[in-house]
Amino acid sequence: MTVGVLPGSFDPITCGHVDTARRAARLFDRLVVAVYAHPKKNLMFGLDERVEMVREATVDLSNIHVVSYEGLTVDLIRDVGGDVLVRGLRAVSDFEFEYQQATLNRKLLPSLEVVCMFASVEYSFLSSSIVKEIAENGGDVSSLVPPNVQRRLRERFEATSKARNQGVQPSTF
Ligand code: ADP
Repeated sequence: MTVGVLPGSFDPITCGHVDTARRAARLFDRLVVAVYAHPKKNLMFGLDERVEMVREATVDLSNIHVVSYEGLTVDLIRDVGGDVLVRGLRAVSDFEFEYQQATLNRKLLPSLEVVCMFASVEYSFLSSSIVKEIAENGGDVSSLVPPNVQRRLRERFEATSKARNQGVQPSTF
């Protein structure tokens, strides 16, 4: 049994992530989608919400398992019995970072293989941060994120603008 692990921040999961997860799920007996608890990024969604969104978006794929993790990705891979670390590659700009990470991770866990999957053309421009910016400014993200994420983004920004209109500091955001 070959187990792939697709780690990421998923803040929030986009159609590009879903596409990579679906394609990777066909390559492995089991694909673990691992949501990283504390990425060095400004997060919009808490860990539980990010995990839930990934679960909802991949619920139809029976060999995908969604987990969250802290610490080193190689430790998570060991814990879940992973064989292959899967990452998505969009533009050349992704390459340097992914290459560095892959090399480091293989140093830490020499038995690990790292596979980078090219993003599908229609999602090659897509990132979670672009989605957040469009949604924040009232733009249409329906072709960029799964419906469950679209709903959450709408709720989030409706709540934020309501709080702003009432002069309340939206402390929970
Ligand atoms: P990270 O913070 O680890 O980069 P992300 O949530 O941004 O986490 O991405 C998780 C994985 O999904 C990464 O391998 C990333 O390259 C890949 N990915 C991100 N956006 C896309 C996309 N539009 N198409 C394909 N893969 C993507």
